Amino acid sequence: MVSYKELGLVNTREMFKKAVAGGYAIPAFNFNNMEQLQAIIMAAAETKSPVILQVSKGARNYANQTLLRYMAEGAVAYAKELGWENPQIVLHLDHGDSFETCKSCVDFGFSSVMIDASSLPYEENIALTKKVVEYAHQFDVTVEAELGVLAGVEDEVSAAESHYTKPEEAIDFATRTGCDALAISIGTSHGAYKFTPEQCTKDPKTGRLVPPPLAFDVLHEIEKKLPGFPIVLHGSSSVPQEYVDMCNQYGGNLPNAVGIPEEQLREAAKSAVCKINIDSDSRLAMTGAIRKHLAENPSHFDPRQYLKPAREEMKKMYIHKIVNVLGSDGKAE
Ligand SMILES: [Zn+2]
Repeated sequence: MVSYKELGLVNTREMFKKAVAGGYAIPAFNFNNMEQLQAIIMAAAETKSPVILQVSKGARNYANQTLLRYMAEGAVAYAKELGWENPQIVLHLDHGDSFETCKSCVDFGFSSVMIDASSLPYEENIALTKKVVEYAHQFDVTVEAELGVLAGVEDEVSAAESHYTKPEEAIDFATRTGCDALAISIGTSHGAYKFTPEQCTKDPKTGRLVPPPLAFDVLHEIEKKLPGFPIVLHGSSSVPQEYVDMCNQYGGNLPNAVGIPEEQLREAAKSAVCKINIDSDSRLAMTGAIRKHLAENPSHFDPRQYLKPAREEMKKMYIHKIVNVLGSDGKAE
């Protein structure tokens, strides 16, 4: 058993309380390799933004759980080395699918876990979430749960259709499970293909696809029923067209990739939404930069030559999200 406190990590409790009161959101960036982690920590340290390092079950399998724990511990030390005296870094399990997975993360140094039982019937979702909360809270680990179904594909999580969260269920669910934060479904979606062209309209000037707006009425209804309760948005990459274009221009094939417009995320961040998950944007920035570098430098074969510009591009993107979209800069001085 390793406590996250020994690793210098923090849980999400104080962070979320401040974010809800302050009208901003904490970035939750997924990572599974060193360059992504370096870029996240550099961006957070430079902007003094609290940050959630997010690991999916797939990432845990890819990178190895032991290595990930030391990477998170290393991230805290690295942040201090960069001059961030009091780093506020969370290590969070994204989409835990069972009690066993969540328990193993709690035991392995995670400071926060998500139990996603949203595909189960309502009462079973409550029972499983409650079981995880009871275990995690013994070790002061915070728990995120999910109510409603998001469309799209994220690692091993996929659903063809989405169902908005029912506001009347949110209060019952939060009270009975004791969860610390609730992921809701209001029209965000996992992956780089969040909407089909048929679901979108077309911008007459640019010819780009414009996705349907988020269901802010559902969000506001939930806020009214659960005042001050931390709300989480999954699937909130904006799929920047510059990176999609960069991928496509240099040999990629990502037709009709479309995400959530940043203005909508900015609006959500001002509400009780206090955690916004971003994964695809980092993948796109990294892949775009690598494709461009290799296309322009066909003789390069040292990974540092193409991973360095990829890391720079991700860092730039993370800083942009922190400062211009979530508003979390300067909140962890
Ligand atoms: Zn998700």
